[in-house]
Amino acid sequence: HFITFEGGEGAGKTSALKGVADKLCKAGYQVLTTREPGGSVIAEKIRETILNPEHTEMDARTEALLYAAARRQHLVEIVQPALEQGKIVLCDRFLDSSLAYQGFARGLGIEEVYQVNHFAINQFMPQLTLFFDIEPSKGLRRIQANQEREQNRLDLENLSFHQSVYEGYQIIIKQAQQRIKVINADRPLAEVIEVAFQRVFNYIK
Ligand code: C5P
Ligand code: MG
Repeated sequence: HFITFEGGEGAGKTSALKGVADKLCKAGYQVLTTREPGGSVIAEKIRETILNPEHTEMDARTEALLYAAARRQHLVEIVQPALEQGKIVLCDRFLDSSLAYQGFARGLGIEEVYQVNHFAINQFMPQLTLFFDIEPSKGLRRIQANQEREQNRLDLENLSFHQSVYEGYQIIIKQAQQRIKVINADRPLAEVIEVAFQRVFNYIK
């Protein structure tokens, strides 16, 4: 099973993913946790290029293409082999991030960015996606309070960009209601993890 975790900044995707993975391991499942952009040596190099705070001149289409390239490499090198070994793969971000960030918030068009990614992923989609729902302003406050988080170029974007990302996600969710399940992320982490785990468990059992 290929399951992706989506949401804006500070929604708690990464923490929830770790928590859900722990619970699945304890329940006896074999789990691979990974992230995008990155997750493989080549894809992590692309990530560094995209997110480098010095790369302020990065063109929006270049950015979208780099995300798609990183996605392709990570998919064939990491995700698909793990799935073939029967593992449950939990991935921090996937296609929907590109649709919301590059497609909607950067204004390239959800459909246009989908086309680029269609080439990259070649029909391969997660069966289940959890959307961690937090008001953008609250999410931003959370990341500003988190000292351990690595700085990236997106930190230069303002609240209205992140509100636009959120709006983009809402459009995508409406179009993929079967696949995407919304989780209220505005509550204590342990509760978020429990709800997310139940969603995943109901799906795989
Ligand atoms: O999820 P994570 O914080 O690791 O993502 C790193 C950065 O990449 C975030 O600031 C996120 O907003 C950005 N990003 C993006 N477009 C994507 C995926 C991630 O702008 N398609
Ligand atoms: Mg994260």
